[in-house]
Amino acid sequence: MNIKNFINDKYVEPISGDWLDNYCPANGEIYGKLPNSSKDDVEEAYKAAKEAFPLWSQTTLDERSRILIRISELLEASLDRFAEAESKDNGKPISLAKSVDIPRAASNFRFFGNAITQFASESHESVGQQAVNYTLRQPLGVVGCISPWNLPLYLFTWKIAPALAAGNCVVAKPSEITPMTAYMLGEICNEAGLPKGVLNIVHGLGKTTGQAIVEHPDIKAISFTGGTTTGAHIAKKAAPMFKKLSLELGGKNPNIIFKDCDYDEMLHTTLRSSFSNQGQICLCGSRIFVEESLYKKFKKDFVEKVKQLKVGHPSEKATDIGALVSKQHLEKVLSYIEIAKKEDNTILCGGNQIIIEGYENGYYMQPTVIEVINDECSINQEEIFGPVVTIMPFKTEEEVLQMANKVKYGLSATLWTNDLRRTMRMTQALQAGIVWVNTWMLRDLRTPFGGVKASGIGREGGFEALRFFTEPKNICIKY
Ligand code: NDP
Repeated sequence: MNIKNFINDKYVEPISGDWLDNYCPANGEIYGKLPNSSKDDVEEAYKAAKEAFPLWSQTTLDERSRILIRISELLEASLDRFAEAESKDNGKPISLAKSVDIPRAASNFRFFGNAITQFASESHESVGQQAVNYTLRQPLGVVGCISPWNLPLYLFTWKIAPALAAGNCVVAKPSEITPMTAYMLGEICNEAGLPKGVLNIVHGLGKTTGQAIVEHPDIKAISFTGGTTTGAHIAKKAAPMFKKLSLELGGKNPNIIFKDCDYDEMLHTTLRSSFSNQGQICLCGSRIFVEESLYKKFKKDFVEKVKQLKVGHPSEKATDIGALVSKQHLEKVLSYIEIAKKEDNTILCGGNQIIIEGYENGYYMQPTVIEVINDECSINQEEIFGPVVTIMPFKTEEEVLQMANKVKYGLSATLWTNDLRRTMRMTQALQAGIVWVNTWMLRDLRTPFGGVKASGIGREGGFEALRFFTEPKNICIKY
């Protein structure tokens, strides 16, 4: 099946006639094509967005909100169809696509459809000067949204929904590796009555299509989620044009376990925070630190549980771990196992590719636990972004805090303890944009989301996203 670009409410072929192959990670087969879009396609998308902007930016909040909520309802009504497509395109278990990815994409539209009606700006009376100040929050114009492959529709809509709610028109590019559900979204937007040109979706490679969006002189802002190296490259390209940037980048998140935690809940959640979505979530707790007196028990119980996880075809009900997203990515993750061995770490379980009968060319890998001898080894410092976690013991709070913070990333951290004072000390000292205590990935869409250090700049979520997608203008009136 051929995926097409969605420009000015029509599905169109790439101007150049160039196509890319779309692979199914579960069996390694090509099952369709997608446009290898060029600068010219991006220009067409930009023109459509520019033309749509005057009307969309002046559309009442009630009407914008109604359309976004309608998109959300239509997505919910198409849950099965979208979940099947997401699972096939990405390799993730269908159960996950059904319970997390697609419901969350629908929530993104519903949430921002409602949030825009509550988005207030400031006013200040300049007492004694007979003046009043108020702030307008104006949409930016045409904005660019670029998203990765791990949570395809979830992250694509996490950007698009607030951008549209705030009155912008959008040129968006999903990852070339997982284009399917973004393609399907066009139809839903038409059915919901989104005016033509307000959302334009261009498919293609990052280094050409993505870069053309970043380099477009009249695209006012870029909201990007992806790798840290790509983020730095985008920042460099965008800087001379003074583009507004939101960069959500990589993570190497600590999961810190103290002896006084609720053990069973911690064990169950740690299994999830390590291997959900094949470990391909920027928030996964890939570095597990365990208090020394609990370490031996944890190691035994955790490894036992990991060995019971079922790796299988994404469409099978019993599957816990599906396929990795691509052959190249599987090779990259496996290369870290070799590095781990060279650095004298111990593979406690997993570490190999798995061949599944009937799907011999799929990209499957065993969930892997590696005991590391020191926190500074490569596999404890670099983002692997696959079903691989490290474990090591710690003696004191000070020691674990130092190790937790001693990475270039700072996206999230998880802390397991029932000690309130320790919780207060550590949550303040951990270098991360998000800290979970006694839970993981419990998300409230009103809260700010993003990282520090090499995990990015800016925050998404709630009013932070609406602030990013609007320009504040102060008006001062003397009376
Ligand atoms: P990439 O950085 O490779 O790609 C992300 C997106 O950017 C893709 O659409 C990609 O296109 C595009 N792109 C690549 N190069 C350029 C360029 N020069 N200019 C413009 N766009 C470009 O990341 P991955 O897709 O591999 O995603 C995995 C990464 O994303 C991990 O590091 C992960 O931690 C991070 N991530 C961060 C999250 C966060 O919220 N902080 C959430 C989820 C993931 P193409 O696919 O064609 O390369």
